Amino acid sequence: MSKSTLHCSFCGRSRDEVKILIAGQEGHICEGCVEHAQEIVEQEVTEKQDGKSGFKLIVKKPVELKQHLDEYVIGQDEAKKILSVAVYNHYKRLRQTPPSKEVKNKKEAAVEEIEIEKSNVIMVGETGTGKTLLAKTIAKLLNVPFAIVDATVFTEAGYVGEDVESILTRLLQVCNYDVAAAEKGIVYIDEIDKIARKSDNPSITRDVSGEGVQQGLLKLLEGTEVLVPPQGGRKHPDQKLIKVNTQHILFICGGAFDGVDKIIARRVNTNSIGFNVNKQMQDDMKSNLLRFINAQDLKTFGLIPELLGRLPIVTYLNPLDSETLRAILVQPKNALIKQYTKLFDLEGIALKIEEPVLDFMVQKAMEYKLGARGLRSICESILTDAMFEMPSSGQKEFNLTLDYAKNKFDHSKMSILKVA
Ligand code: ADP
Repeated sequence: MSKSTLHCSFCGRSRDEVKILIAGQEGHICEGCVEHAQEIVEQEVTEKQDGKSGFKLIVKKPVELKQHLDEYVIGQDEAKKILSVAVYNHYKRLRQTPPSKEVKNKKEAAVEEIEIEKSNVIMVGETGTGKTLLAKTIAKLLNVPFAIVDATVFTEAGYVGEDVESILTRLLQVCNYDVAAAEKGIVYIDEIDKIARKSDNPSITRDVSGEGVQQGLLKLLEGTEVLVPPQGGRKHPDQKLIKVNTQHILFICGGAFDGVDKIIARRVNTNSIGFNVNKQMQDDMKSNLLRFINAQDLKTFGLIPELLGRLPIVTYLNPLDSETLRAILVQPKNALIKQYTKLFDLEGIALKIEEPVLDFMVQKAMEYKLGARGLRSICESILTDAMFEMPSSGQKEFNLTLDYAKNKFDHSKMSILKVA
């Protein structure tokens, strides 16, 4: 065989196109493919080490993800579906992205051109409708590190408050500083709406809390190497920083975006002029405008376009009606009523709750407008005395009647505060 017809058996490049061609028993390998192979080996080894903090990514298909979410989160079908697809695609992307950005040959170059965008998500919905719960539940199912941070604690570098990098500190902490695991984790950034640019705030005065933080978040969200202070807070000159690559960290942001419905209404109305939108359709649209939300509305609300560009998936959560709240009390795998029943059971007491008590709890949760979050405080205010007395009373059964529930609730802090 003449020298010029020799090829790399891996990438197909000829002897003239490569620097070195190493001969094997039945083939050859070029220096580029040796390097690539080395990277694959390194990646495999790191993946094997992933288990060291107990986190090992389990990729599930969207249908399975949604089914699992259904066990813990009531309603919110649209958000569940969108989140399941986003998460699945995100981890699919993670598996496909080669470890090195360097392009080795034409075939690879073509594949690399199709870059799957990172599917960071933004969820819009009133407080207590399950945004955090969705993010937390999905992270648990995938067995990846999960951290919740509040956007309001961050400030632009140079101001009082935490640096945005400390978001990653939380993630590192939950996985015992296992960087490889953290780099595949999920971060939930709550109250993203609170760092919106105030449109009525002229830019002569620096908008410390809002736009600067949005700018700071950009680099984290897009995927880059970030130096993270191990203990969080502000960066300290002598502190040893940990390098974390955010390329495969999934960011899910959530916020209530109070008043965004008016922005949507304005846009939807303008758009529908001249179209055949009848009264029934209009009423229907008005009843839950959030479902029409898009990035443009969030921009009008005060999120900067660059940030929105890095949060390509926008979804919404429905406000919880009384039927959903009632289901939340009893249906999820770890529903509140199931938890209280277990607590009583552990004392050898059978807890029996009359049906009207559940309706009463739901009615109060609706009144207090705290979403499902209110349910827990309501249950506590009704059951705390019983939980205090029961273990010493020797009783085998506790019957929670409507009268008892009303009486305890009316004398609780929660009820008194409302009156005040
Ligand atoms: P958000 O992040 O939207 O403010 P959370 O997810 O923190 O609200 O919800 C607060 C609590 O209310 C959760 O711990 C959960 O127990 C309950 N909850 C809220 N929405 C739902 C839901 N759709 N299904 C089941 N439980 C819910």
